[in-house]
Formats: sequence, structure tokens, C-alpha cells
Amino acid sequence: MSSYPIMINAFDPSRASELPENEQALLARRQRVLGPAYRLFYEHPVHFVRGEGVWLYDAEGAAYLDAYNNVPSVGHCHPRVVEAIARQAGQLNTHTRYLHSGILDYSEMLLATFPGELSQVMYTCTGSEANDLAVRVARQFTGGTGFIVTRLAYHGVTDTIAAMSPSLGTRLVLGPHVRVVPAPRSAGAAANPVVHAAAAADGGPQVGRDFAAGVEAALGQMRREGIKPAGLIVDTIFSSDGVFADPPGFLQDAVAAVRRAGGVFIADEVQPGFGRTGDSMWGFQRHSLVPDIVTLGKPMGNGYPVAAMVAKPDVLAPFGSHCRYFNTFGGSQVAMAAARAVLEIIREERLRERAQETGHYLRRGLAALGENFEVIGDVRGAGLFIGVELVDDRATLSPATRFAGELVNELRRRRVLISAAGPAANVLKIRPPLPFGRAEADLFLETLEASLAHLQA
Ligand code: PMP
Repeated sequence: MSSYPIMINAFDPSRASELPENEQALLARRQRVLGPAYRLFYEHPVHFVRGEGVWLYDAEGAAYLDAYNNVPSVGHCHPRVVEAIARQAGQLNTHTRYLHSGILDYSEMLLATFPGELSQVMYTCTGSEANDLAVRVARQFTGGTGFIVTRLAYHGVTDTIAAMSPSLGTRLVLGPHVRVVPAPRSAGAAANPVVHAAAAADGGPQVGRDFAAGVEAALGQMRREGIKPAGLIVDTIFSSDGVFADPPGFLQDAVAAVRRAGGVFIADEVQPGFGRTGDSMWGFQRHSLVPDIVTLGKPMGNGYPVAAMVAKPDVLAPFGSHCRYFNTFGGSQVAMAAARAVLEIIREERLRERAQETGHYLRRGLAALGENFEVIGDVRGAGLFIGVELVDDRATLSPATRFAGELVNELRRRRVLISAAGPAANVLKIRPPLPFGRAEADLFLETLEASLAHLQA
């Protein structure tokens, strides 16, 4: 892993003097009080003061189409979530060491969306904490320590989890018992993105075999080094690796290999979960398998910090008998009220179905753009989690890294928000709030087409 970008599309502070004076002042304050570790998006950072639905508004009142943010998944500032939080905050907000029916009502609703085996849930405040807990649970259950992650995985910020997140940069030291495997290759990256479906069908089984071969190799390495495997953890939409969704089922061989070696499978649903992939509520369902542990976060409270770990009871049992668990804010009454409102909205506003419909429509539109713009090498994803791989050459698929950066910034100038991902930062990452409909998809496609034409002129 030689030259992975530490962060894609970050603002370069050495160019601060090019910004308007009021923005320079904000930037100076930021650096003074927040220190050097934070990054801002875009060549020209954005300054938002309000959000509504799929729109964000800047300090001058200009509207930006949000095709990037998957946390406000039911729409920015959804009035029902706002009301649920406010009502509960005015009534009671304590912790999980007193009896309360709110956490039980929500847990039953949430667990009903999972296969029956996944029947217990524990709460945290962030996805990182949920993954950290999952690692502890997996180690207790298996007696192993070794973990397998993908080449450019991101699973969070705690010490243990950062050591399992190679996307944090080349200087990150991975944990001694962490082994990295290649991310699945897209079955559809072909000379012509329009033939994606056919290519996926042809190359499909090979994707699963290749991914499983990487996992088998990592398991073999652990065996030789005397490391007992605890598990495989993947983001089931492979967001930071560059968005890989097809063919459905490609994870099965790798998961079977890990289980044969005594490890568990942890599905990190922080990115794809809660209906985003359209075809199902959870990304792992696309692969027709039942994980041993599932972690949730980001969209769970539409921005209110609530996250969770769902597990099979037998997997959780050894941890429960050795450790007690308490998380001060995790599972508080307000967190549960926010999460419940989100789940109800997803169901009542048919947002999963909407993600499916709009996702298909958008991917079709993107593939059609590929007929005119050679730079589009692959269009992939599921529901409203879409990756568009930009290439300098369709035959070799050499990454159009610089162009991807220019395009993300051109779209921002035209007030449309996306980002880029993948090892070469050349995969456009498109994952809007789920109420994104056809009208917004049309606006997105028109703006993208105009931006491509402008940059290639
Ligand atoms: N897992 C994945 C796949 C993520 O994308 C993220 C956040 N980007 C996390 C875990 C960590 O979540 P959090 O930032 O809430 O700790």
C-alpha cells in the first residue's frame, strides 16, 4: 500500500488567501481552536447554515443538492425526528440502568428487520464503538485474535478499530493480528459501462472466488504465524474501497472460509444499512447470508448519535458472562426516540423502495452518460449507494484520479455535493438522503453532464 490518499478531496489550507475574507476568518478560528487534525471538503469549502430534505443552504441562502450525505438518511431535519427528540428530551433522558419501555419497544422493532437468528442488540453512540464492541465479542466467542479486513477498509476511530482501518493512511500501523485482503473487483468494469449487467453476469462467480481466495490466503498466513482467527469484518457495500455490490452473493465463499477456520463474520452496516441499498434493509441480505454480528450507525438516528451491535445470542453469551457492559449515552431515551422515528419514517415513506427506484433510474442515467463520456469506466452500486469509476483509458481502466478531483469540485461550484473514494480516489461516491427522487436525479444528471462537458471542452 504505497500511495493511498489520506483524504480524498480535502481543502488545501495553503490556499486560504484565495477565499473571501469572512471565510478566511472562520478558517483561522478553526485552526486556532480545533488544531491541525481536521480536514475540510473541497477546493472552496462550503459553509452551511440550514438543511431541509435533500437540500443544504449556505450562509447566503443558496441551495445545494445533497447527493453525498447518508447520515440524514430520511432527509435533513426531518420534522418527525426533530419532534421525537424534542419531546423525549423534555420528558426524560437518562441511561440504561433504569427500567424503561422505550429501549425495548425500539429493540423489538429493529430486531424484527433482521433474520431471526440475530436477536439481541446492544447500544453505543458511534459506529466505531459498535465495531470495537463487536471485536471484543468476537474475540471472547472464538478465543481468537486475528482479523481480516479489506485493502482500503474504514471501520472507525478507536485505537483497536483504527488499527483495522487501512484507509486512514500509509502511516497507520495496522494491528499485529490484522491481515489485509484485496477488495472485491467490480464484475462490471468493462470497456463499455453500458454492458455492465452482462459483464456482471459473466464475471460474477469469479468475483466471489477471487475475494474468497484472498481471505483463504490471509487465513493460511495466520495459521503459519500461529494466530488464531477471530473473524472477517467488511463494510457490505465496500464504500471506502470503491463501492462493490455485484454480483449479489459474492461474499458467501469468503464467509464460509472464515467460519471453517473458527472465525465469525461481522457485517459493518454503518454505510449500507437502513434501506439504502434498496433491495433490502441490510447490505448483507444482498449476499443471502446471516452474519454472526452486525454493526449499525450513521443513519440510525438521522444525525442524532446512536449506533448499535446486533448479534446471535450464542455469539454474545461468552462476552456477557465475562464482562458487564455500560455505555453512558448509548441507548438513552432520546437516542431511542430518534431511532424509532427514523425506522417508522423509512417504513411509512417507503424509503427503501424509493432508494431502489431512484437508484435504478440514476444508474441508468449514468450509464447513458457513459455513451458520450469515455471517462466513465464503470457504473455500479445498489439502491442509492452508487459508485462511478472514472478512467483515463477504458481498456486498461487506468484511474482518472486528477479528473475525479476536478469533477467533484466542478459539481460543488454548480452546487451539487458528492465525493470520491477508492484506492486511486477515482470512484465518484453518490449516496444522497433517501427522499432523493426522480426530479433530483434528473437535476443531478444534468449538472453532471454539464460539468463533464465543461471539463472536457
Ligand atoms: N464503519 C464504516 C463502514 C464507516 O463508514 C464509518 C464512518 N465513516 C464507521 C464504521 C465509523 O462510524 P463513526 O464515525 O460513527 O464512529
